[in-house]
Amino acid sequence: MSTVRALQIEQQGGPDVVQVVPVPAPTLSGSGKVVVRNEYAGVNMIDTYHFGGLYKLQTPIVIGQEAAGVVEAVDPDVTSVRVGDRVVQYGGGSYIEKQLLDAERVIKLPDDIDTRTAAACYLQGLTALTLLTESAPVKKGDWILVTAAAGGVGLLLCQMGKAFGANVIAVTSTEAKCQLAKAHGADHALLYNKENPEAYISAIRDITSGHGVDAILDGVGADTWEANFEIAARKGTIATFGNASGPVPAFAPLKLSPKNLKVCRPTLFNYVATREERERYSAQLFELVQSGKVKINIHDEYAFTTDGLRHAFADIKSRKTTGKLVVKI
Ligand code: NDP
Repeated sequence: MSTVRALQIEQQGGPDVVQVVPVPAPTLSGSGKVVVRNEYAGVNMIDTYHFGGLYKLQTPIVIGQEAAGVVEAVDPDVTSVRVGDRVVQYGGGSYIEKQLLDAERVIKLPDDIDTRTAAACYLQGLTALTLLTESAPVKKGDWILVTAAAGGVGLLLCQMGKAFGANVIAVTSTEAKCQLAKAHGADHALLYNKENPEAYISAIRDITSGHGVDAILDGVGADTWEANFEIAARKGTIATFGNASGPVPAFAPLKLSPKNLKVCRPTLFNYVATREERERYSAQLFELVQSGKVKINIHDEYAFTTDGLRHAFADIKSRKTTGKLVVKI
C-alpha cells in the first residue's frame, strides 16, 4: 500500500500527541474529487485547540486547516481545476503530503501568487475580510480596534481596516508588536494591561475623543472581554472570534442595552461555505494582495516533521510570534 506523511492525532492531549506518521495515500473516488500535492500549509492558533482538546474532535484525525499546492489528479467530472494547476484551500486535514479534496473546495491561484504566499494568507485573510464585511461591516471613518494586532489575523485586519478607510487602533502585548502593527496600517497602537484595565479604557476614550470604538475585533477572548463593553461606542459591535487567552464567559443580554451593542461570535466556516462564497471572497483577498494593499508577513517557515510541527505550535502559543507561520511540506 502506498503511503504519504501526515500529522495524524491518535488522541487529543499535550504536545507529544503531535506526530508525523505514514497514512494511506489518497485515491480518487470517481466523482467530484481532486488530489492535491500540498507544498505549504499555514499554521493557525486553532491547530493548538485541535490537538490540545479545547475543540473536541473524533480521533484518529489528520489536523491542519489550510494548504496550497499543485493538483495531481482529478475525477473525470471535475471542470473547475486541471492537473498541474496551483491551488489553495481551507477546511481541515491539511497537514498531509497529498490531500483528497472535494473539487468545490479548491480555488485556483492567480499566476502572481505563489503557494507559500497563498498558504500564508488564505484562512487568516478570509477571516479578516469576513470580520470587516459581515461581522462588523466597516465604513470609512469608523473606529475599529484589533486585539493581538501583530498576529496572523491581526496584521491582516490592520491593513484591510486601513484599506477600507477605518481609523485603526491596534492592541498588543509589547512595544515591538505595537510598532509592527503601526507599520501595517494601524493609526494608533497601545498595550493591553490586564492588571490596569482602567488605563487602557481611558486611553481609548482619549484616542477616539470620547466616541468609543465602532467595531471591536477581538481574537484574544477572556483577557480583553470585559473591557470591550467599556470601550465600545454606542451601537458598536463586539466581534469575539477567538480564544487566544481562553474562552469568554457567558453573559446576560441585558449587558448590551446601555449602549445598544451587538455581540457576535463568528467563525469563518459559516461565512465562506458555498462555492460562490469561496470564489467571491478568494477573489477579493487575492486582489488585496496583488494590489499591495495587504502585505503578507511571514514570521518563520517550519519543517514538515514531528519536531518541526511541535516547534511551530510551541511558537504560536508562546506569544512571541508575529504575522504568519508556514510549514514547508
Ligand atoms: P496569532 O498569530 O494572532 O497568535 C495569537 C496571539 O494572541 C498572540 O501572538 C498574542 O498576541 C495573543 N494572545 C493573547 N493572550 C494570549 C495567551 N494567553 N496565549 C497566547 N497568545 C495570546 O494567531 P492567529 O492569527 O492564528 O489567531 C488569532 C485569533 O483568531 C485566535 O484566537 C484564533 O483562534 C482566532 N481565529 C478565529 C477564526 C474564526 O473563524 N473565528 C479564524 C482564524 C483565527 P499579543 O501578545 O499581542 O496579545
